[in-house]
Amino acid sequence: MLAEQLQEEVWESTGGEPVPACPGHQHPAKADSANEVPSWVCPRDGHVLRPILPAGTPE
Ligand SMILES: [Zn+2]
Repeated sequence: MLAEQLQEEVWESTGGEPVPACPGHQHPAKADSANEVPSWVCPRDGHVLRPILPAGTPE
């Protein structure tokens, strides 16, 4: 899935949750998938901040 599409889906599924800041960096995290789980990921070093959706959220 393209990152842009994911970002859009994330925006809709979170009701417009703001993109979290990347801890220790000056940039916002980006929506990406980690192990097939939509997650906030550092765009610079690629580390996963956390899953975007709370655990147990129905599809
Ligand atoms: Zn970062």
